[in-house]
Amino acid sequence: MLRLCESDRTDPSEQDAHLIRQESDYREYEYLGFSVLVHATADMPLDGDVLMILPGQGSAHRLIRASSRHNTLLVTEQCDQLCVMCSQPPKKHHVDLFDQFAIAATLAPSGVYIGISGGEPLLHKDRLFEFLASAASARPDLRFHVLTNAQHFEPDDISSLDAIGLDRVLWGIPLYASEAELHDDIVGKPGAFHRLERNLSLLMRAGASVELRTVVTQQNWENLRYLANYVVNRTPFISVWALMQLERIGYGRMNWHKTFRDTSSDFTKIRSAINLATAKGIAVSLFNFPLCSVPVPYRQFAPSTISDWKRKYLDFCEDCSARSACGGFFEWYSHTEGFSELGQI
Ligand code: SF4
Repeated sequence: MLRLCESDRTDPSEQDAHLIRQESDYREYEYLGFSVLVHATADMPLDGDVLMILPGQGSAHRLIRASSRHNTLLVTEQCDQLCVMCSQPPKKHHVDLFDQFAIAATLAPSGVYIGISGGEPLLHKDRLFEFLASAASARPDLRFHVLTNAQHFEPDDISSLDAIGLDRVLWGIPLYASEAELHDDIVGKPGAFHRLERNLSLLMRAGASVELRTVVTQQNWENLRYLANYVVNRTPFISVWALMQLERIGYGRMNWHKTFRDTSSDFTKIRSAINLATAKGIAVSLFNFPLCSVPVPYRQFAPSTISDWKRKYLDFCEDCSARSACGGFFEWYSHTEGFSELGQI
């Protein structure tokens, strides 16, 4: 694990690799007497990035990009759900990298949010809690956003959540419908909804911060209004309700035609859901929606959320006045199968 350093740091570490040579297409760093060569163009910012080099592998993992707001550590690719739109279909194997992640966290830029995702990170709950507690104590300035299906919390975990620090972690939890059968169908796991309900109440009692996430799909489109009712009446404690557009990769790509909902041509159900939620004081956010796909009064709910390294813009974005505020599209979005009503603002 090493951190690329191109200038003097106020927080030096023995993991620092110092720049000794820069050419137009590569940079050479010195790390504990070894030479580390990174192929990168001159304009690519690397100062402060944290790399993980695994034995026997020819390339490094860029765990933290110091210039990015979107740093996520992939804890595991295992999962106990099989969501119809999963962007990262589960795999059976698991490699425990928590010790490496703990070092990476200590090297992160100050004051950032670090994402933790999977698969399902809580399948390795003890190690995850251990990591969060140690990172929280070593770096009081960091916060974490953990994506979890919330199936694996138990009442005994409340003390662990407390020890980590309730304000240190935002739990991002998917909820796709207020009807048990429909939610279970979308996540491919019988009983998932009831387990989720139980654990949302546990998190509420613990005082945890929760972001509910709903991917808008053809499957739950007609029922969004019931879900909005559920969110305002049953989960008023949440920090934010994120309504999300589909990512065309993994199962999302495989099931695109039966799952993608073109919200640029019909925004009605989302409009009603936002109106109801905001009227009841619930914060709402639209994730992964190109700005021009959203009616003007609702664009305020659509921040740029697609990570910079997996984002693209299309030809017609070139002269768009909203481009700097718009999150654009996923790299793997296909416009021939996507939104029908887009255009420069
Ligand atoms: S034209 Fe492109 S940049 Fe402009 S709002 Fe639409 S998607 Fe975003």
